[in-house]
Amino acid sequence: MKMKLLNQLESMDKKYLWHPFTQMKDWIKNDILIIQKGRGSYLFDTNGKKYLDGVSSLWCNVHGHNKKELNYAIRKQLDNIAHSTLLGLANVPSIELAGELIKIAPKGLQKVFYSDSGATAVEIAIKIAYQYWKQNNAKRTKFLTFSNAYHGDTIGSVSLGGIDAFHELYKSLLFKTIKAPAPYCYRCSFGRSGKTCRKECLREIEKIIRARRNVLAGLIIEPLIQGAAGMLTQPKGFIRRLRELCGRYDILMIVDEVATGFGRTGKMFACEHEKITPDIMTVAKGITGGYLPLAATLTTEKVFNAFLGDFKDGKTFYHGHTYTGNPLACSAALANLEIFSKEKVMAKLQPKIKYLKEKLAEFYKLAHVGDIRQCGFMAGIELVKNKSLKEPYPPEKRIGHQVILEARKQDVILRPLGDVVVLMPPLSISMNELKKLLDATYKSIQNVTEAEQDRVL
Ligand code: PLP
Repeated sequence: MKMKLLNQLESMDKKYLWHPFTQMKDWIKNDILIIQKGRGSYLFDTNGKKYLDGVSSLWCNVHGHNKKELNYAIRKQLDNIAHSTLLGLANVPSIELAGELIKIAPKGLQKVFYSDSGATAVEIAIKIAYQYWKQNNAKRTKFLTFSNAYHGDTIGSVSLGGIDAFHELYKSLLFKTIKAPAPYCYRCSFGRSGKTCRKECLREIEKIIRARRNVLAGLIIEPLIQGAAGMLTQPKGFIRRLRELCGRYDILMIVDEVATGFGRTGKMFACEHEKITPDIMTVAKGITGGYLPLAATLTTEKVFNAFLGDFKDGKTFYHGHTYTGNPLACSAALANLEIFSKEKVMAKLQPKIKYLKEKLAEFYKLAHVGDIRQCGFMAGIELVKNKSLKEPYPPEKRIGHQVILEARKQDVILRPLGDVVVLMPPLSISMNELKKLLDATYKSIQNVTEAEQDRVL
């Protein structure tokens, strides 16, 4: 791209755009990276410079960028129709996709309600759970949520969240939830680790559930790993036990698979690891292979049936979005699922998960790597100022941010969560590319933390 046009783009961005999760004062001050195209695991900026996409364009890309089959499916659908509403009408791709989703979803989930982002899928889940109890004549209006939870940025989703940095400011706007501890074994609030941390958390959770059982409509959990909080992995058996508790106390279990769904954890859905079926499940991100905004809230027949009645009964679920069940997005999602089976994506992913684990173990050699957490193809490396004390860096140092800027010099795009460096490449990444990603990340952490250490001394 010509220099003049490039400068123009940059100044227009700075003049007109407001970027998400971004301090715009810093953004406007600094050089910005403008992505123009993508191929496979790579992103290309407007200068033609190539970068490995280490975070799957915010955790959603699955089979790489510019995937022939996905491009084709969207073009083909475009020749039929780009959009037609699901309010009062049906459309072909959304019907076909619902059938395919039910085939692969945990057994027992039977109905699909579409929307367009993870946050909207969660809003729908909580509205369904709330209305479900109203229609079952029970005063169950509260939700059990977890410390460090993240379910999106709409007001309902934020109400369910547990990350102070993102959620605290809006407190007076939010509805109240009942909070329970989720495991963060590295910094366990009970001072325990591993199995014991799980046991203590579960003991506390059960205590809360028992005390509030008559008001609880549902519980919402990110299964196996709380992503946005810094890739906090849950000890084995944690969600299985939550499933048992929800069953025992008759609470709707909502599992938020927005980040974990579509292969990320090494199985199609995280629920499969512990062989559970929630009452409601939310999916988004990888559903279209990372191409178009689409989400879905899946429910059991039992939940769905509570909404059936004569029109005058007022049991209709009054919720919908203009682009609910968008045909282009559903076509991309259908092609996405087809690639999963045609290219044996899940089988090919297993050695990559193993390799990631082996290589990550080497990162402990670095003086400022405090903890490494991995769940399938999701990983977080927590950087600390003092390893033996687990002392964090002062937030204003923005060590995680420094690491991702350093990684760009090594031709890799990362995005941190505070001082946790996240690795979440497309499932299709090759072994060589994965090695390159890990080597560049290692070097970036080393360069930044050593330079910081030198400054302190
Ligand atoms: N739920 C979980 C578990 C997520 O990780 C996210 C986003 O990262 C969301 C919901 C929100 O999804 P979206 O950004 O598509 O609204």
